[in-house]
Amino acid sequence: MHPLDEFSAIVTTDAPLAPLTWFRVGGPASRLARPRHTEELAAVYTRSREAGLPIRLLGGGSNVLARDAGVDGVVIHLESPAFSDLTVDPESGRIRAGAAVPLTSLCSTAARAGLSGLESLIGIPGTVGGGLIAGAAHRHVALRSLVERIEFLDGRGQPHTADRDELNASSTTEPVVDGVLIAADFQLQRDDPEQVVRRMRHLWIIKREQQPYGHQSSGYIFRDPSPERSAASIVEAAGLKGMRAGNVEISDRNANFLIAHPGATAEDVTRLIDHVRDRIARAFQIELEVNLSIW
Ligand SMILES: Cc1cc2nc3c(=O)[nH]c(=O)nc-3n(C[C@H](O)[C@H](O)[C@H](O)COP(=O)(O)OP(=O)(O)OC[C@H]3O[C@@H](n4cnc5c(N)ncnc54)[C@H](O)[C@@H]3O)c2cc1C
Repeated sequence: MHPLDEFSAIVTTDAPLAPLTWFRVGGPASRLARPRHTEELAAVYTRSREAGLPIRLLGGGSNVLARDAGVDGVVIHLESPAFSDLTVDPESGRIRAGAAVPLTSLCSTAARAGLSGLESLIGIPGTVGGGLIAGAAHRHVALRSLVERIEFLDGRGQPHTADRDELNASSTTEPVVDGVLIAADFQLQRDDPEQVVRRMRHLWIIKREQQPYGHQSSGYIFRDPSPERSAASIVEAAGLKGMRAGNVEISDRNANFLIAHPGATAEDVTRLIDHVRDRIARAFQIELEVNLSIW
């Protein structure tokens, strides 16, 4: 008997994780759960916790690397329509988004409604839940800085809400909350829709030129030490663009991205990360912090 046997309708055994992550490498999840609504999420989370299973949450998989040996315990994938609601109130400037809403939908919906604040985050892959937990940001704008209120399950699987002043909204490194993020309300500024859309498109054109091609399997690796000093500029200054480990390479478009070529392994990724950190520490006495969640 496995503790999650009662959830057989939503739990898969030895489920490949590579297709669910942007790197597209790594081994399977021992158990992969896809809850269909909040009650099922709470039940599977609580049961796993009581059984002492390691629990990991998966959103869009753009900030996760699954190790080659696979991932023990349970991976809970939030993807169901129950976590994908997006509602806008243009009058008050509030947007409410479920954890599984893609960040691009959040940004473009806000822009079309004439709500400003999220434009510079356009093009960041992943979801609202993953983005808030991983600290998605572009220069001075962090997704979490626009949050007014969140809905989440705490570490015991109990539902809660927390207002802005109760959140770790100013930190860029600590998770905004411990537990499972279910939905968030954002407070934005009213503006002319045409202007907001124009600004967003302009930023997207610039970003697209500076990031790996859309078809490449890639990952964004290090946190920027400060908004003025990007990790990409430091890696580039060390002359590491194009460096490889096995079938993984530092992108020649932006040195904070690794590209996984066919045949790449998760070990190639971690070896290259270790190597870059080591070279940067020796060259500049800077400890680059890894942004990627390595499972
Ligand atoms: C091409 C590319 C470009 C990128 N550009 C940027 C950029 O400009 N700026 C930037 O900051 N990042 C960037 N990233 C990193 C990444 O896109 C962001 O961190 C993203 O928002 C993560 O969202 P996700 O849904 O994919 O999260 P995932 O990768 O699925 O998860 C990330 C973390 O959040 C946790 N998590 C996910 N959902 C939940 C939930 N509902 N509750 C609790 N925990 C949860 C996971 O366990 C994991 O620890 C980029 C990545 C790629 C591949």
